[in-house]
Amino acid sequence: MIEMQDVWKTYPNGTHALQGVSVKIDRNEFVYVVGPSGAGKSTFMKLIYREEVPTKGQISVNGFNIGKLKQRKIPYVRRNIGVIFQDFRLLPRLTAYENVAFAMEVIEAPKRQMKKRVMEVLDLVGLKAKANRQPAQLSGGEQQRIAIARAIVNNPSVIIADEPTGNLDPETSWGIMQLLDEINFRGTTIVMATHNKDIVNTMRKRVIAIEQGNIVRDQLRGEYGYDF
Ligand code: ADP
Ligand code: ADP
Repeated sequence: MIEMQDVWKTYPNGTHALQGVSVKIDRNEFVYVVGPSGAGKSTFMKLIYREEVPTKGQISVNGFNIGKLKQRKIPYVRRNIGVIFQDFRLLPRLTAYENVAFAMEVIEAPKRQMKKRVMEVLDLVGLKAKANRQPAQLSGGEQQRIAIARAIVNNPSVIIADEPTGNLDPETSWGIMQLLDEINFRGTTIVMATHNKDIVNTMRKRVIAIEQGNIVRDQLRGEYGYDF
């Protein structure tokens, strides 16, 4: 469902962030992306959700060549991809409910379905009771759960998570991993960049290691493999 063929990304300042990456990720896989800071992990993820376009090479997501996508098709592809960040990126003046509903409004989902669906995903992440709180009234782990609810509300086929546990303590991180595992189990592909050695070594999923813009390791039940 995600395929890169000889993908290069050079930023305008001349930095070669990716240098000839080829990879296939199938439907329903759970993939950890590891490697040193500055290796190209975020760039790899941004190319998948079309925050960036490749300088050279091809990327297809669900059969769309997303490097060459017509402007009007971009929203259609994006709704099939949910994104989660280290810093949550919730809208501070909206409640948890409104943050999640906003993602449905953006794609112009029918109003009738909205309330039911938002409450359904808030229930899935365990925060139905806190639907009316603003982000500042929630703990870090709870804010990430709201961000996950927002990412899955439109039923995407893929979740891209860029260091989702980077700001959370170990116990809270495990809760977030259990939730992502459950979402994967229900049929969503997950690609997650992480520096969390414990999580990678315990969960034993596919591990793709990126160093200096290249994939240097791709293991099926892999390990973290670094000391940082
Ligand atoms: P990682 O996520 O592994 O830390 P990144 O993909 O963020 O790596 O960065 C890869 C390289 O590209 C680094 O050298 C970084 O400084 C550079 N880089 C990332 N984004 C930009 C940008 N917008 N402009 C210029 N250079 C960038
Ligand atoms: P954690 O240890 O997970 O970071 P916190 O100590 O931040 O959690 O929060 C513990 C509980 O208190 C959570 O259920 C959270 O919703 C609630 N809480 C935290 N900050 C506030 C706040 N400013 N107003 C209301 N409730 C809060």
